Amino acid sequence: MESFESKLPNIGTSIFTTMSALASEHKAINLGQGFPDFQMDETLISLTHQAMKDGHNQYAPMAGNMALRESLSEKFYSLYNTSISPDCITITPGGTYAIYNALTTILSPGDEIIVFEPAYDSYIPNILVNGAIPVCIPLDFPNYSINWNKVRSAINKKTKAIILNSPHNPTGSVLSSSDMEILSKIIIENNLFLISDEVYEHLIFDNKPHHSVLKYPDLFNRSFVCFSFGKVYNCTGWKMGYCVAPKFLTNEFRKLHQYNAFSCHTPTQVALASHIKNKESYLSLSSNMQQKRDFFLSCMKNTSFSMMPSSGSYFVCASYEKISQMPALDFAIQLIKEYGVATIPVSAFYADGRDDKVLRFCFAKKEETLLLAAERLKNL
Ligand code: PMP
Ligand code: GLN
Repeated sequence: MESFESKLPNIGTSIFTTMSALASEHKAINLGQGFPDFQMDETLISLTHQAMKDGHNQYAPMAGNMALRESLSEKFYSLYNTSISPDCITITPGGTYAIYNALTTILSPGDEIIVFEPAYDSYIPNILVNGAIPVCIPLDFPNYSINWNKVRSAINKKTKAIILNSPHNPTGSVLSSSDMEILSKIIIENNLFLISDEVYEHLIFDNKPHHSVLKYPDLFNRSFVCFSFGKVYNCTGWKMGYCVAPKFLTNEFRKLHQYNAFSCHTPTQVALASHIKNKESYLSLSSNMQQKRDFFLSCMKNTSFSMMPSSGSYFVCASYEKISQMPALDFAIQLIKEYGVATIPVSAFYADGRDDKVLRFCFAKKEETLLLAAERLKNL
């Protein structure tokens, strides 16, 4: 057989793969794909090594290592003042997997789900492969906030869920407490599910609080809240995360998980179980990353980019309208080839290719990397 009917006929290679491949081909500084270029915490490396030497090398329990789930439960209590049982936590091979598994748990063919754009690139393919329909609502430009009236008017009998991400990739916008109140009302009144992507929970700046869905019991009761250890501990290549959901949803989530991955990397879980108890390991993250954001913004002052606000995540967006009117993808490719700096065109996060002439920069990098990239961009 040479061909068959694709389940995702209109989906190509992810923008992160495309831009990282071009960056390495042209030896460009990679401020595109979101990953740190500095070493992760040595303590966590040692703990993982020790766990391997201690013989923690066989299958972990399907739901995840119990000590790790208990540590997470304690962490939620201290951070969000809420009691979440380890029975509601499932350890997954990454945050992306947690989101896919949650979407697959609830979506049936023909269901509609509201997605805010620009949207993290995995959401729409994950929805489509389940035969469901993404209903895309653009965030208001240029502050990238949610227009809740647009959400209300998009809801109909087929609407099953909303998928939401705060702090937001790619824009760095964060939801306020009033957003959370409106969201709760809409979700509860319309009997919807919520997928809350909170992988950047600890990367939030300027003393803004993170309004986790875990803090809102009525909302949590209909939600899958997805996290990534990769983002918390600067080890994106570990692909470890978890999903928190009420028991009745967790039961269904695990029915799928047990036949998808079954379980995740054991020594890492043993190491994380004790590492998480050290609160500094995650509480120090925001200020470290904020320093990088501020350093990058100060370097970029010498360029013609108009930097946009970023209140969280690894990312800051910038308009290049003063420099060029080229489409964002073409402009980003030109930056790699001619200036040696890789970025991500924000147009790639819109299903219809909407192009506001904005690029995303990842500032989770060493200062020397950020400085060198900004130096190169001065010439534009
Ligand atoms: N959601 C968003 C918005 C992300 O940026 C990422 C990071 N890649 C993820 C989910 C998933 O993280 P992971 O690498 O753990 O799958
Ligand atoms: N989350 C990372 C980003 O937004 C990339 C993840 C990936 O390559 N799939 O850049």
